[in-house]
Amino acid sequence: MNRQKLSIIIPCYNEEETIRPFLAATQDIEAAMADKLVFDYIFVNDGSKDATLKVLRQVSKEYDNVHYLSFSRNFGKEAGLLAGLEEADGDLITVMDADLQDPPEMLIDMYQKIQEGYDVVGTRRADRKGEPAIRSFFAKMFYKIMSSVSDTEMVDGARDFRLMTRQVVDSILQLNEVNRFSKGIFSWVGFNVTYLPYENRERVAGETSWNFLSLLRYSIDGFINFSEAPLNLAIWAGILSFFLSILGIAFVVIRKLTIGGSIAGWASLVTIILFIGGVQLLALGIIGKYLAKIFLETKKRPVYIIKEKSE
Ligand code: UDP
Ligand code: MG
Repeated sequence: MNRQKLSIIIPCYNEEETIRPFLAATQDIEAAMADKLVFDYIFVNDGSKDATLKVLRQVSKEYDNVHYLSFSRNFGKEAGLLAGLEEADGDLITVMDADLQDPPEMLIDMYQKIQEGYDVVGTRRADRKGEPAIRSFFAKMFYKIMSSVSDTEMVDGARDFRLMTRQVVDSILQLNEVNRFSKGIFSWVGFNVTYLPYENRERVAGETSWNFLSLLRYSIDGFINFSEAPLNLAIWAGILSFFLSILGIAFVVIRKLTIGGSIAGWASLVTIILFIGGVQLLALGIIGKYLAKIFLETKKRPVYIIKEKSE
């Protein structure tokens, strides 16, 4: 039987300790699936500051089916994903973290689902165990708000770990925006998608490169890239304060005509001015955010720059 080729994309940022354990674990699965699939590894070194590149050079010499790309600096995981997807030539493509938080043994079930006719098999964490409560809270909030304001559905707890057919990847690559928010892009392209749940795992080694602030920035990016809700917020705030001011004017005029006299209201006046000023600045800020995205988008800069590549 003709075996299908599976390209595995692994973005790596400071993963010197995890690459070998990752390969060892995945190669077990490779052996188990050898009758159906040929594995091909594409590691993307995202400007790591440790010995990641050195390790990658070594493993690519040791194994014929291990390749790597190395960026000229840190471009972020999204860029790593894109570079990997552009490089991959498999019939099936998957994206995995280097830290073994994405269990390689799931590939067997995921492949099964593809055989059943799905185009994309994603994975989602069944729970958020081992995560700080405050982070879980904000993550839940993000998905809740996102699902109510964006047409693009984003599944709570969905990982980037997913198995896709060639057709899906080709569609993803047709989206040539520079600001790439994968969670949105993956779901935007559609197709038959199913999710397999799994228990959250700790990293085998190394440290997560996310902190609270970077996650917050990431989620704001998600909103800006996949929804117009913040702009609508500005419009609604404007409409609301417009109607309030009409009521205010009516109140003042009627009062003048009936009771007479003016109100000695310095404090209330200042409060109102501050409030309106605040709303205006907020609206300007929101517009500015979108403008900045448009600015970046029109420059058409490359998403990443490759400095070195395995043969
Ligand atoms: N990563 C990357 N570039 C970055 C940050 C992270 O390529 O700027 C990679 C990282 O090496 C790992 C994956 O993205 O393979 C997920 O990162 P991490 O484990 O830090 O995120 P978490 O699992 O905590 O969400
Ligand atoms: Mg991780």
